[in-house]
Amino acid sequence: MTVVEAPSWAQPILKFLVSRELPADEILARQVQRRAVAYTIVDRELVRRSVTGVFQRCVEPDKGIAILRDIHQGECGHHTASKALVAKAFRHGYFWSTALDDAKELVRKCKGCQCFSSKQHMLASAIKTIPLPGRLPYHRPSNAQVERENGFILSGIKPRLVEPLEHSADC
Ligand SMILES: [Zn+2]
Repeated sequence: MTVVEAPSWAQPILKFLVSRELPADEILARQVQRRAVAYTIVDRELVRRSVTGVFQRCVEPDKGIAILRDIHQGECGHHTASKALVAKAFRHGYFWSTALDDAKELVRKCKGCQCFSSKQHMLASAIKTIPLPGRLPYHRPSNAQVERENGFILSGIKPRLVEPLEHSADC
């Protein structure tokens, strides 16, 4: 059997592709089977085909986070929002399963994200208590977002129903 390189999160997918082996847990097994459709082995490496047809190298989250950090800070002071960050990393040909969570975490922790340009930084710190209209960084929930979230709760749709949808967007 050929040895195929794959990060730890993708091992179940690789196992299935190579030997049709599935986890004992039925739900997990179905998940692996469903995800595996997008994966293939090229030159002894597990790759993922994105919906746009880009071949993505499957990487460990550590490497993925480094890539995200590069993209996030690399664009002359423009701090990319988490979803755009992930999209860019994926377009560059990288994939890992926790990318969106990692991107959110990175943006949340980024000190530079307190401002979105050095000019506005001085302005923002000078008038810190006055909310800037319209152009808040993406990772801060806007009023509309907060209202939407409240709307979910008010309309009786429980957050746990929303969560699986978000997770399925990750894979
Ligand atoms: Zn930032």
